[in-house]
Amino acid sequence: MLKATNLVKRYGEITALDGFDLEVEPGEIAGLVGHNGAGKTTFFEIAAGLVSPDAGDIRVEGVIGVAPQQLALYPSVTVRETLRLFGGLAGRSGQALKEAIDRVAEEMVLTRELDRRVSVLSGGQQRRTQAATALVADPEVLLLDEPTVGADPETRAALLAAVRRRAERGVTVVYSTHYLPELAELGATIAVARSGRVIARGAGDELLKGLPGEVTITLDDERLTVTTADPTATLAELLRGLDRPVRGVDIRQPSLDDLYRELSRVA
Ligand code: ATP
Repeated sequence: MLKATNLVKRYGEITALDGFDLEVEPGEIAGLVGHNGAGKTTFFEIAAGLVSPDAGDIRVEGVIGVAPQQLALYPSVTVRETLRLFGGLAGRSGQALKEAIDRVAEEMVLTRELDRRVSVLSGGQQRRTQAATALVADPEVLLLDEPTVGADPETRAALLAAVRRRAERGVTVVYSTHYLPELAELGATIAVARSGRVIARGAGDELLKGLPGEVTITLDDERLTVTTADPTATLAELLRGLDRPVRGVDIRQPSLDDLYRELSRVA
């Protein structure tokens, strides 16, 4: 469980968080989205205990696993040593730690990299190692700040699967991304941050209700596009009213990208 209430964080003139509220239940993946500078990383830093807020309250229950946005790995040690260090910091040792390292390495497709130095890994392999450091402690709360930046499809898929599995086991997850389809893949609830606050929060499909989609009809010599709240009904209506042959139809339901754009337009 994670509950942030009215967090405020200022850096000189800049207010990074300005009354930031977020509550996430065990087993829930909360997708945190918002413009550059909206306060997402600052929230993660406070939730991870790395930075203290100027005001407000943060409650996090259980061991926390963090994958920061900037890669934070020691270049001169191997992947295995890295995971041993992070697992050890979380209080794991001996056989349990060894097994946890093997399990997480397999999950993140790192088994063959375990005895290689971090400095010689590819960017994607380093990303996977970073995610593995968050997972190896078997945390109750996972904080993942844009964990798939620069990741290839295999790395992305491994990471999303690992996150889903943790949530199914009751882990509380906060996942920030600028790539919104990932959140649909994760079945995440959405929190939209702007100017240091969460301005919209809920299930993705609830937040999408009422947003317009599009219907496009292609005729012999022209193409007709209509923006509508109910694309399917509008398509049926358009087809009934047309007495010319229709060459093609296309429906675009509203997406999280539309929601994001719509919320960004609000002053
Ligand atoms: P992005 O999507 O670009 O990662 P973000 O939503 O994570 O952005 P933050 O990194 O939390 O945004 O930054 C919020 C604001 O706080 C920005 O204006 C940033 O410049 C400022 N800020 C964050 N950390 C510091 C710091 N240590 N010192 C000064 N200003 C900071």
